[in-house]
This record gives sequence, C-alpha cells and structure tokens, in this order.
Amino acid sequence: MRAWLNALERWFLPSRCVLTGRASEHLDIDDTLVAKWPVPEAVCPVCCEASVLGEVCGHCLTQPPAFERTQVGFYFAAELADLIHGLKYRNQPAYARLLAELLAERLDTTGVEALVAVPLYAKRRRDRGYNQAELLGQSLSKITGIPLISGVRRIKDTPSQTRLNAEQRRRNLQDAFAVDEKAFSGIGQIALLDDVVTTGATMQALAQSLKTSTEIKTIQAWAVAKTK
Ligand SMILES: [Zn+2]
Repeated sequence: MRAWLNALERWFLPSRCVLTGRASEHLDIDDTLVAKWPVPEAVCPVCCEASVLGEVCGHCLTQPPAFERTQVGFYFAAELADLIHGLKYRNQPAYARLLAELLAERLDTTGVEALVAVPLYAKRRRDRGYNQAELLGQSLSKITGIPLISGVRRIKDTPSQTRLNAEQRRRNLQDAFAVDEKAFSGIGQIALLDDVVTTGATMQALAQSLKTSTEIKTIQAWAVAKTK
C-alpha cells in the first residue's frame, strides 16, 4: 500500500532537487551531487573513526564506549552540510525528511527495536521551535517502521560544544540526561539518532545513562553525518 501511495505521490509531485530546483530521478536532491559526497569506508565499526582495515580501533578495544556500533550516512561536507545547517539554523524542518531518506538508504537496521532522538534542552528546543534529531527520528521511523521512543530528557543546558576538545565535551555532558526506565521496558536493542556526530561524546553520555538505568543490551549510534 505504501509503495503504491509513494508512486502516486511521485506522479503528482515529481522529485525536484531542493538545492538546484532541477527535476531529480530519485529523492528530492540531485543524485549526481549525492554521488560525490564522501562516505566513511575504512572505519572502526564501533566509533566510526578511521581504521585502515575497518577493524575495531585501539581506543574502542581498550576503552569500549557505552554503544556497540556507529552508523553514519556520510562525512559532513559539501551540500550535505548546507542541508543540515538549513535544518538546524535556518528553520528548514522540511529537510528532515530528505535527510532521513538519505540516511535510511545507507543503514543496516537489523535487530533495532526502537529509535531514540538525542534530546535538546527544553529552552533550546523552544527557541528553535523543534528538535532536529526528533524530526529526523519521526521521518526515519516512518521509513523503517521502527518506533521512535521519547524516554530521555536533557536536564543540563550544555553550552555549545563546537570549541571544546574531547575531554571538555565529556565533562560538559556529565549528568546531562535523565532516563524514564519504564519507556524502555522489554527493549533490548536501540539506536540513538542525531544529525551530526563529532567526537561521539553526546552519544557516549546518553548511551551510558541508558545502560545504567535500563535493561538495554545493545545501543547503536546513528547520524546523518560525521565530522572528519
Ligand atoms: Zn573505535
């Protein structure tokens, strides 16, 4: 039924690239642009940092993070960075669907029972009008059929992390999240979702809070893009 509806929608509303305005074959973006975006290939499956043969990196072997696997669509570059900035800072919530579609095409969703969007602090969410990770989560949930669960809150207003190093980010995020255990009862495997992952400190803090207060066994970290 959904495939049929999609075909119908496409017939009435043919895809058009949101950046160039030209008709596009597939999603609402020119396929030739997407084909040029850099993709993480030789990376550690746990943290997605470069690792020559794609093996688990030394850091993850000696100090395993609270999540077991990281999957990202692309590196944060080129037009993708414009789309993500548009979603986050230029009030373009409609980009969430396109970004979720791009990510979904690259994800292995096997075994994941629930999605959890990385929450924003309440005041930030109010200022922006929405949480971009939640919008991505709603779209990704529709595409994959995996339910989006809202059982986490950000209880600490962490100042922008952009200028902080890995250790400062980690400290900045201590006790940043509160978990409603009941929302996760009976769930063994989840994926955390954010727009961009940088050092993984946010994913680590959230995964740690979840593993401490729930029975969840396996956590994945998913993001549309990763900074190099
Ligand atoms: Zn690693």
